[in-house]
Amino acid sequence: MNTTPLQLTAPDPSVDHVLAQIAAGASDQEACTMDLVAAPWDFDPVPGYGPGASMGDVIPTGAPLQGGLPQEYRDASPAELDARVRAAKKALGDRVVILGHFYQREEVVVHADYLGDSFQLAGAAKAHPEAEAIVFCGVHFMAETADMLSGPDQAVILPNLAAGCSMADMASIDDVEECWEQLTELYGDLDTPDAEGLLPVIPVTYMNSSAAIKGFVGRHAGIVCTSSNARTVLEWAFARGRRVLFFPDQHLGRNTAKAMGVDAAQMPMWNPRRPLGGASPDELRDARVILWHGFCSVHRRFTVDQIEKARVDYPGVRVIVHPECPAPVVDAADEAGSTDYIRKAIEAATEPTVFAIGTEINLVQRLAAEHPQHTIFCLDPVVCPCSTMYRIHPGYIAWVLEGLLDGEVRNRITVPEDVATHARVALERMLAAKPPAAPAAAWEQAS
Ligand code: SF4
Repeated sequence: MNTTPLQLTAPDPSVDHVLAQIAAGASDQEACTMDLVAAPWDFDPVPGYGPGASMGDVIPTGAPLQGGLPQEYRDASPAELDARVRAAKKALGDRVVILGHFYQREEVVVHADYLGDSFQLAGAAKAHPEAEAIVFCGVHFMAETADMLSGPDQAVILPNLAAGCSMADMASIDDVEECWEQLTELYGDLDTPDAEGLLPVIPVTYMNSSAAIKGFVGRHAGIVCTSSNARTVLEWAFARGRRVLFFPDQHLGRNTAKAMGVDAAQMPMWNPRRPLGGASPDELRDARVILWHGFCSVHRRFTVDQIEKARVDYPGVRVIVHPECPAPVVDAADEAGSTDYIRKAIEAATEPTVFAIGTEINLVQRLAAEHPQHTIFCLDPVVCPCSTMYRIHPGYIAWVLEGLLDGEVRNRITVPEDVATHARVALERMLAAKPPAAPAAAWEQAS
């Protein structure tokens, strides 16, 4: 295996180009699978998330499938698809807004009116009440959030319905309801505060979760968090409850609580496949944070060994990782923070700097191309983008935009109103939560 940090001689923002070079033997880099050079529609009939970092994860039964894409889009060249998307977008004008997540491939991002993380893009959706359609080039839970925050007459469109999120899928509403029942048996009525006014458990869900989960926390006095405000949200929750049930990402929960001084022994894991999540009643009684057994397969790829190698290869390197990485990786890094933090940290560097970044490769490649004065590389030497983001391709964007021109809304994502009502409560609690009074550690301020 080639362990040279990914660094092109001339930074190219397109991971697709990097993969094409590898496939052609013109690069000595390695990809986690060469299936990545195929088109996403080649994987529509194949069970699973498709090629990329989540391909080994178990896709839940009933996960949306895309179905066929008309042959004309499959046969079109990249240049033709680019021209068709541009023409359709121009013809639609203000009728459509296209949102692109930081982890999308460059060939998609070039068509986006807004580029950002899931929360920033939800805000962008809300800011365009005049648009009749919002094309969300992200994954399923992001489109759901945009639907809940946009107007009732606006259609939120996910160009490929198979673009889920393996982490969000690790916390199903059925499993979470079952967990809540078991915790009720252990702690008693979870909706009644004790003599000090504290509830036994406050459920906290990461933004990367289904609308059904956000609705669940809204119904049970809980709250949503992002990677930027996880500490503020945990402070909010600890002011209202004895402990927190945090899902779906164990790593964000653990890293945030650890930085707040919560002992590892007070953070048992909840594995939904085991009775009481695999923890003992005593562990759960002593718990401050119960961590759901979920993770991001992109950020789980980063290791302490990669950081140590980067420090040997580039003395003085500045290592920044995302808080979805495992705790030892966050501890070994110089800083940890959200995608927005990483972007701003690089923008703020006034001297040429070497950055080793632990987040999704499409964002890292784009940052490297945008900041040629710095040396920026992904800690993971293997090119392995997020499988589910990979499902969005210009062919699907052309298909949904041309559908709008024909008066047909394709791939609309709609959250039932009874779910959305409670989910909005959980989102509003997050927006109203105030930062902690005491200064946080560097990475917590950032993440
Ligand atoms: S990077 Fe991880 S959390 Fe983000 S969409 Fe992909 S699998 Fe989900």
